[in-house]
Amino acid sequence: MKLLILDRDGVINEDRPDFIKSPDEWIPIPGSLEAIGELTRAGWTIVVATNQSCIGRGIIDIAMLNNIHAKMHRAVVNAGGHIDAIFFCPHAPDAGCECRKPAPGMVLDIARRFRVDIEDCMMVGDSIRDLQSIVAAGGKPILVRTGNGRKSEASADLPPDTWVFDDLAAVCDALLAN
Ligand SMILES: [Mg+2]
Ligand SMILES: [Zn+2]
Repeated sequence: MKLLILDRDGVINEDRPDFIKSPDEWIPIPGSLEAIGELTRAGWTIVVATNQSCIGRGIIDIAMLNNIHAKMHRAVVNAGGHIDAIFFCPHAPDAGCECRKPAPGMVLDIARRFRVDIEDCMMVGDSIRDLQSIVAAGGKPILVRTGNGRKSEASADLPPDTWVFDDLAAVCDALLAN
């Protein structure tokens, strides 16, 4: 199975510092939906792994998160794509959970659920903590320059074997060229 793990905010949709709090605030990054569509048609399984501490902080509830994800699923389907699963960490940063990135908990759960070897998994993220979570699990980190990506690219904490692309569309082009 070709399985690609995607961070959500800053990779699929535009990030914002005060959290995505409603479907209206969920705005796709140009080209990202079409990229997921192309990957789906090429046989890739697409799974999202996203920190959503806005739930643990009491800013939105699970019902609103589901509304936001319903919009994302519809938008991806309209582009001919499919997101197979969304894993999210609802916890606040001080909760000490094992799922909030940079911890590898969500990535390990995804590998178990889909019965794939983590060494074969790649994760696309815009933040250092995304890359750290997949590296800690034993998979391949891919950075995009959307969202926090340019800041992450300049960080001393960038994992040394990270692949870097302008955006998800460029990641898609590279994966499909191989
Ligand atoms: Mg992000
Ligand atoms: Zn968590």
